[in-house]
Amino acid sequence: MNKLISKQSFNLRSVSRVIKGVPTTDGAGVELTRVIGQPALPLLDPFLLLDAFRSDKPEDYIAGFPPHPHRGFETVTYLLAGRMRHKDNAGHEGVIEAGGIQWMTAGKGIVHSEMPEQENGLLEGFQLWVNLPAEHKMDQPQYQEYSTAKIPLETREEGVEVRVITGVTSRNTQGPVFQPLTEPIYLDVRMPAGQLFTEQLPATHNAFVYVIQGPVSLNNEDGQTIQLMRDDLAVLTNGDAVELRAENKDTHFLLIAGKPLNEPVARGGPFVMNTKAEIDKAFRDYESGNF
Ligand code: MN
Repeated sequence: MNKLISKQSFNLRSVSRVIKGVPTTDGAGVELTRVIGQPALPLLDPFLLLDAFRSDKPEDYIAGFPPHPHRGFETVTYLLAGRMRHKDNAGHEGVIEAGGIQWMTAGKGIVHSEMPEQENGLLEGFQLWVNLPAEHKMDQPQYQEYSTAKIPLETREEGVEVRVITGVTSRNTQGPVFQPLTEPIYLDVRMPAGQLFTEQLPATHNAFVYVIQGPVSLNNEDGQTIQLMRDDLAVLTNGDAVELRAENKDTHFLLIAGKPLNEPVARGGPFVMNTKAEIDKAFRDYESGNF
């Protein structure tokens, strides 16, 4: 155990479950892996969905996501490689490039498209859906978009590099995305072989690790070491800190946490509300052109 952590007697989080994503197709025929929002992990409050995509075969991604609506939550797109163009019915348009984030608050309704801005090469990234509390589901849509140059990189002495998209680290690096409703933390961490990454997390948050390049080690609830491999999602137990280790390889992972809403969740395709009646209304509003 890391000396600093043990001295301060933090309650370390451990792994409660390891989840593998399931291959699925969405949009106009995009091949992706659904990790949150599938039978093994329907919800990790406030996170409704996590899709991972990684392909250098254009036929897997070229069809993209033509215009479609959302209501009641936020879609968060983070690219590791490639380019995606987004455009919506509120006049917002832009291209997300490698290392860039788009944090879109759909609120009461948006119709947007998300299309690859490339005809070949690797497209790799994630889409995370973050729920909104009932009283803010019908807010006006909002965007927070930051290119890789606008995302702070915290470099620690052991060579650990932390890109801070949202939240503040224990070393006071503040990410640019602001969302006080769920207080999300979204960190992209690179940890060299043989190193340790320790970070405090609010005890009330739900948290997970998604491994981009493993193995990454941490303990399970029985104190045994679990090795997380590429594309594993580890749901973390409650606690106020997390400690991850890289063994003999350089590693890369996401550490994501958010404040649970503890509200009923009603889903209807691209809409996520609190009740079935609100989902029905979302479909009626969309079909009647009220988005
Ligand atoms: Mn969408």
